[in-house]
Order: sequence, then C-alpha cells, then structure tokens
Amino acid sequence: MRVANRLQGLAQSEIRRMTRECERVGGINLGQGICDLPTPPLVRDGAIAAIRENRSTYSFAEGARELRDAIARKLARDNGLQADPATEICVTVGASGAYTAAIHALLDAGDGILLFEPYYGYHLNAAVVAGLTPEFATLRPPEFTLREDALEAAITSRTRAVVVCTPSNPSGKMFRSDELEALARVARRHDLLVITDEIYEYIRYDGRPHLSPAAVAGLRERTVTIMGLSKTFSITGWRLGYTFAPAEMTRAITLVNDLYFVCAPTPLQLGAARGFDAPRSYFDELQSGYQRKRDRICAALRRAGLEPIVPEGAYYVLADCARLGFKTSLQAAMHVLETTGVASVPGSAFYRGAEGEKLLRFCFAKDDEVLDLACARLAALG
Ligand code: GLN
Repeated sequence: MRVANRLQGLAQSEIRRMTRECERVGGINLGQGICDLPTPPLVRDGAIAAIRENRSTYSFAEGARELRDAIARKLARDNGLQADPATEICVTVGASGAYTAAIHALLDAGDGILLFEPYYGYHLNAAVVAGLTPEFATLRPPEFTLREDALEAAITSRTRAVVVCTPSNPSGKMFRSDELEALARVARRHDLLVITDEIYEYIRYDGRPHLSPAAVAGLRERTVTIMGLSKTFSITGWRLGYTFAPAEMTRAITLVNDLYFVCAPTPLQLGAARGFDAPRSYFDELQSGYQRKRDRICAALRRAGLEPIVPEGAYYVLADCARLGFKTSLQAAMHVLETTGVASVPGSAFYRGAEGEKLLRFCFAKDDEVLDLACARLAALG
C-alpha cells in the first residue's frame, strides 16, 4: 500500500496519542482539549427540535440562513465587525474545517504560511497536507510579545499568509492592539493574507478584552476570521465553525467547503443558532467558571514544582517540566501519567525544536470535581 507523498513524516497528533495512553491507564485526561462541560439546554433542545421537525437535509453550502444571521448579529455585538450574512459568512465543519477550506481556497501549493511558535499542530500539519510551506516566528514566554522587527525578519519571498491564533492554543496568549497594528503594517507591506483562529474568544481571564484582528484598521479586507462554537457551547463533537471574510474570499471558501464537506450538519447548525440568544450572563458565567479553574490548576502546578506560564485566555496552561529531569517532553508526560494518572500533552507538539521539550500542556476544561481530583493527584509529584 502506498501512502501519498504529502503525508511523509506526518503521524497522528500527540494530542490524540495522549488520549489513548490516558485511556490505557484509566487516567484523568487533561491532554486533549475535549471540553466535557454540559451543553446549554437552549442549544441542545434547539438541535433536538430541528431533528424532530425533520430539518435534516443539506443546508446551503455556506450554512443555514438562521445561523448566519445569528453569527452576523454576534459579530456586530461582540467583535465590532459588520458582516453581511448573505455574502461574508460561511458555516463550516468546525474551525478546523474553516481553516482547511480557507487555505485551499486562497493559497497555492508552495506558498509560505507563517505560524507563530508555539503553534497549534493542526495549523501546521493541515498546511503541510495542503502543500504549503510552513514558516515560523517564535514568540517567547511569559508574554509571547509580537515584535514588528521580528515578524518582518521572518517574512520570506514565499510568504503569502500569517496565522494568528488568539487566544492562543497552547500558550493562552491574547494579542494586544499594538501587536495587531504591527501585524497590519507588515501584512500591508508584503500584501499578506491573515488567517485567524479565535475559537477561544469567550474564554479569557482577568477581565482582558478579546480583540478580533479584522477589527484593526487595515486588516478587515485581507483577513479570514475563523471562529467556532465548540468551546463556547461545549459542543466540540458537533463540529461547527465559520469564516467571516470579504465576499470574494467567502465565495472561494464556500466553493471548497461545498466540495469537501457539502455543508455542516443542518440540525446542529439550527441548534447552535439558538445559542447566541443566550443572555449575557451565560457568557459572563463561562468566564468566571474558567477563571476559577485556571487559578486552581495554576496553583496545583506550582505546588507540584511545574511552574505554569499563566494563560491570558483559552483553557490550556503550559507548565515547565524541566525539574522532572527528562530529555524529552514525551518522557515527562508519560512519567506524569504513570505516577499521577493525569494526562497532559508534551510541549514538543507545539514547537519544532528544543524549547518544547521542557513544557507540558494541561487542559482545564473539566468539571470542577474532576479538575480538583487531577490537581490533588498532581501533588504526588511535589
Ligand atoms: N483543539 C483541541 C486540542 O488542542 C483538540 C484537537 C483534537 O482533538 N484533535 O487539544
């Protein structure tokens, strides 16, 4: 059996691998960002009602009108973005489906796509499968500050696009307005496409506001904004995301979305459309709930001697595992799993080089009881 050349060197992600290892030992999975909190009844019952009403056939390739209208209202309300739901939004099979559709629609094989390191491995590997040339600019902890000169230096003659994940998986970094303004200047100078991943937009800490790159002057016309519903409504398995981009780009994205996926699951789209009607308090409670979880796990990691890089947003925390004395972060992750029953993801999943080998990523999107148990078990490392 022959496997395509474009898959050379690619294997299933460490994220999924650790889930299997965790199941093997019956551990607590703080590895894969599964998010097993309850789905809001409004969303769940909306999907059930749609199925009961037999609304189970294809939607338009760009998504059900109800959901696109709800997304446009939400973009105006929460992101300061004015979107035409008829021409500028495409509903996709998760944010990953949005990313796939966008890179195939807007980039050609060989084009350079710049990722900020630490990166989300799916951004890298999906780009490789699409035949793109990955390029990197490393951001350093604890602030992961984006500097204009460093970004400028990372641009090559191939570079056609930059990926901005904010709040970031895995670092939790949230890009500030001065950083996004620097990005806008560089993008304009080199005529770059900006592809965002804002799936964690509602999960952020210490009152920090989320800034959508497309809302920054000079970026809207060259940006594909990718957002998703998985994390906001705890429906990671429903696979719903969307793009917001100028009409011409959206037409191209919709074409690819149709060819690859036909459409996102219709009744689930209709359920999710109801979610944006949730009262403000739902989003506030989402934040305060996650803030408590972040603070708990950071304290537990500190007690265990795994100094956390405290995240500004998203539901992951990178922790320094150098003290454990392993050569690789995979060995460290396996040791933590064997001794405490808590699974994490090795930092090497998010870095090309040695920097990742002293880091572990823990996901804290867990029910309070499960998270508390995991925190107690981590103390065994102390
Ligand atoms: N985004 C999630 C993570 O980083 C899950 C991705 C996946 O399950 N493949 O863990």
